[in-house]
Amino acid sequence: MSTTVPEPGHLKIGADGSMQGATSSYTKRLGEMGGVYRDEDAYQALLAELGPDHLVYQVQEHRNVTTEGALIIGTSTLLPGRVGDEFAVTRGHLHALADRAELYHCLSGTGVMLLETVDGESQAVPLQAGEAAHVPGHWIHRSVNTGDEPFVTLFCYPADAGQDYSIIQDAGGMASLVVGTENGWATRSNPDHHGYTTAAVTASSNRGI
Ligand code: MN
Repeated sequence: MSTTVPEPGHLKIGADGSMQGATSSYTKRLGEMGGVYRDEDAYQALLAELGPDHLVYQVQEHRNVTTEGALIIGTSTLLPGRVGDEFAVTRGHLHALADRAELYHCLSGTGVMLLETVDGESQAVPLQAGEAAHVPGHWIHRSVNTGDEPFVTLFCYPADAGQDYSIIQDAGGMASLVVGTENGWATRSNPDHHGYTTAAVTASSNRGI
């Protein structure tokens, strides 16, 4: 095999998000989630109760080259939880190359893919095992666990996409919050959100969801 051609991946993927054959993995812990949840008092109380090393989500992925046309394939396992009335979330991002799309296929648990455009459109796509969200380019996206079990998704996106996390931070959070209700969950307008600025669509980082 030519050295310029990557080796194929053979992946064994479990409903719990386990991924034999992954090339990398990372975790996001409660102490790294400062500023993500709207209720800062609830976040600080949970931090004091569970500690900064408490796992929020983990990602396993298979990636080789990052050239145009290559893929990153992985699993995201978001543990259940609440911060105030907000359900557990991933940080969320817009792709640094904003037109890059992404697939999220739910393997287990129940959750929501929260999707927003910089123009103010917002959609919450509910997911359970066997259901998938096709996230087009130009949609900011975040996973939300609305259930009592880990919310596990298989994702696949272009390897050159990159991630811009600051766009959410700079906007005062996403426009919608996914909160608990008597019957499950609902979206609620985030009063701290003051609009996305496309000037923020320049930063990038190389990994993460
Ligand atoms: Mn993404």
